[in-house]
Amino acid sequence: MSTPMLRQYEALKSRHRDAILLFRLGDFYEMFGSDAREGARLLGLTLTQRQGVPMCGVPHHASRGYIGRLLRQGRKVAICEQISPPADGKGLAERDVVEVLSPGAIFDQDYLDPDSNNYLVALGKEGEHLCVGWCDVSTGELTLAAYPARDQESLIQREIARLHPREILVQESLLEHSRYLSSLSGNPAGGASGNGGVQGCHDVVVNRIPDWGFSRESALERLCLVLEVENLRGFGFDSSDAALLTGGALLDYLEENARHVLGHLHNLRRHHDEDVLILDDATLRNLEIVANMHDGGRAFTLLSVLDQTQTPMGSRLLRRRLILPTRNHREIEKRLDQVEELYHRQQDLLRLRELLDQAYDLERLTSRLGVEKAHPRDVEAIAGTIGVAENVATILPDWFGQNAASGLLDSPEGWQKALDLRDRIARVLQDDPPVSLTEGGIIRDGYDATLDRLRQLQRGSQEVLAAYLEELRSETGLQALKIKYNRLLGHFFEVPRSQAERVPPFFIRRQSLANAERYTTTRLSELEGEINNATEESVAREQALFLELRAQAAQEIPLLTTLADHLARVDVAAALARAATLQGYRRPRLIQEPEVHIAGGRHPVVEAHLPAGDFVANDLVLDQEQTRFALITGPNMAGKSTVLRQTALITLMAHAGSFVPAETAEIGLTDRIYCRVGASDNIARGESTFLVEMNETSNILRNATEASLVIMDEVGRGTSTHDGLAIAWAVCEYLLEKIRCRTLFATHYHELSGLQGTGFSRLTMAVQHSERHIVFLKKLQPGSADRSYGVDVARMAGIPEQVIERARQLLVHFEGLSRDARDREGAPPAASAPFSNDAGTKTGTGQPQDELFSPLDLVTAELAGLDIDQCTPREALDLLYRWQTAL
Ligand code: ADP
Repeated sequence: MSTPMLRQYEALKSRHRDAILLFRLGDFYEMFGSDAREGARLLGLTLTQRQGVPMCGVPHHASRGYIGRLLRQGRKVAICEQISPPADGKGLAERDVVEVLSPGAIFDQDYLDPDSNNYLVALGKEGEHLCVGWCDVSTGELTLAAYPARDQESLIQREIARLHPREILVQESLLEHSRYLSSLSGNPAGGASGNGGVQGCHDVVVNRIPDWGFSRESALERLCLVLEVENLRGFGFDSSDAALLTGGALLDYLEENARHVLGHLHNLRRHHDEDVLILDDATLRNLEIVANMHDGGRAFTLLSVLDQTQTPMGSRLLRRRLILPTRNHREIEKRLDQVEELYHRQQDLLRLRELLDQAYDLERLTSRLGVEKAHPRDVEAIAGTIGVAENVATILPDWFGQNAASGLLDSPEGWQKALDLRDRIARVLQDDPPVSLTEGGIIRDGYDATLDRLRQLQRGSQEVLAAYLEELRSETGLQALKIKYNRLLGHFFEVPRSQAERVPPFFIRRQSLANAERYTTTRLSELEGEINNATEESVAREQALFLELRAQAAQEIPLLTTLADHLARVDVAAALARAATLQGYRRPRLIQEPEVHIAGGRHPVVEAHLPAGDFVANDLVLDQEQTRFALITGPNMAGKSTVLRQTALITLMAHAGSFVPAETAEIGLTDRIYCRVGASDNIARGESTFLVEMNETSNILRNATEASLVIMDEVGRGTSTHDGLAIAWAVCEYLLEKIRCRTLFATHYHELSGLQGTGFSRLTMAVQHSERHIVFLKKLQPGSADRSYGVDVARMAGIPEQVIERARQLLVHFEGLSRDARDREGAPPAASAPFSNDAGTKTGTGQPQDELFSPLDLVTAELAGLDIDQCTPREALDLLYRWQTAL
């Protein structure tokens, strides 16, 4: 680094090592050195060199798009501006970093996803507690929690999946003990690619915070200070609550990275897991609640079907309700009552949705007001949304009255304050005001006498200019003479080049263009000075008036927050009523007993993507005595996974306060839903699938309770048949006898039908088969599958008839052999005895010996022995090639 400018850059960069520094140079933001390399890669820019230093840049006018992309990719961005021109007109301009944007602490709509919260999460450990705090500065939410840290790793993964943070603060010692967190922070730049399990595959910044940054005492002190209270009892915390631990770290970080925000974090909450239906990361993923398993997107998710919301705040609330459904019976009933009311008032529902469509994101607008970042258009949007709320309240007077969560709107005075604010804003601001505070056009004519006078002067000057032009035209006879304006020259005269020699001598040439000449005159310069003064003064006046208005609006932040909260709730209720109407959902009944009684149940997402009426509805009962545990057998493609997931989704939807896709549904209050999918269905994730499967299973066996719902789909397939069967069998016994939770267990191990015990029941998917055809009826019925139909599927796939025939013969043969083997070995030993583990031994499997068979025999034997259900399409293709060659 040699030049003065690069030295200036280095000095600034040394203070912002963890951010990409955008260095203002003329009309560009430039990046240098390693920032340039990274920036070029992340933004797809061309890397160049200057004096041996790599550099790349983005135009200033388009910088917001680029900054947004850097933030989304988990990078902090430091913005360096030229703050004063070079002292002597030459040399180096003074520059400084004016703003550091951190993905977890942003307010700007351009950088935020409207439909999801933008969380900064802090993780720390105190004693036996894992402490988690999350904060969304764009909405003012701050929530703290502490969990007994029995399964620390699973807990951390679950929290990250639930909160989907943009940025994490981790206590150093915890980071060192957590493999998962270390894997997230593995990226050398401090950011990490989020595909290591963070749902939605976004990038997350991991900040390592020294242990002393996490202190309960100082957190308590800081929080009291920020919230202006003596203690936090009113917020549900006592001073010994471990949950306080992360509060201080969050506040410290925000103070450093997002000045001004602290005062506006008014919404402190204590989260208790006992209040919610717990869904862990694997369940969130497997049920595809807010992100699909294919690309982490929103398509084909439960959220996509239910999200008929009209406002971003409603959409965010709905997403939170699906990820953290409540377990509070009264709350659920209240929400269902609201959905039902709107469901029966279709006309009003229609009107409400039209109204909500006109509402803006009041939650985030209010936050920007709180941190003095709201611009004129924001303030106008606040007024507009108060107006929407007023109309909504006339349709739903009870919802905004005594039943409201906060007393702020209870009284007529509360409302009146909101309406007064709206009227004031309407009086002060022009319609469609600009975003910028420096170009005028913000304040209405007639509101302020001083401003009106300045404007008069401005307009007067324009008239004077026009008169002067006329005067010159007649004096010179140059009818083509014009007055124009640009930023560089200010006002000037323009004459076509062809007439240039006719201009009078007092014209002073300013610029020559290809077809025109530009001039000024002494008089024009004088007039211009007057106009400029008036303009500057009026812009300053407008700014002052606007800031006054904004400060008045900021007085009403608590009221606006309450209003935003109400609108979000109404929006969610309206969305769920709408979804229920569109999809034919019914109100579920929540019951205390840990049972499920569903008649005519459907899968909300599969159904939504089939032609109307094509989905086959199913009944399902899980009760305490008869059918607590249902084993579901049936061939591949018979509909097992669908019926499993729909049961979990219906249970979840009921807890989220939604109507459900069923004729009737009685759903027992549930503490946890676990949904596990066997390794082979999950292969795309490319992890050590069997290990993952076993980790997840162990998590269930240790945490599920009698009030949980456990869904297991083909668990145990990731290993050899005997291993898998043995594990599946033992897991089933444990769930059935020990945990006694509601369980749906789909398997292609037909042997599991041999399980016994109270509450154990067998269900199967109906299959209609004739000599040449099989049809999957997608209908659940009592009993076990009689066979796997693998050979029939092979026929459907076009395997030559000759091979199929031979396969049938061999199948009979093998089935005989394995029956014999089973008879010899006897039934599995009782649960108290250890299972024998004969993985790898092939005795009794009837493997044919090579020399005794022709190539056709070998192929057919292999085919018959093949578990088509376990075959990937690629393996199947390879086999077909091999068989073709062998024959
Ligand atoms: P399995 O788990 O038995 O292999 P799936 O549940 O994956 O079967 O279902 C196989 C296919 O059948 C899926 O494409 C699904 O969309 C469709 N399907 C499943 N259940 C139904 C149903 N009840 N009605 C209509 N189509 C269904």
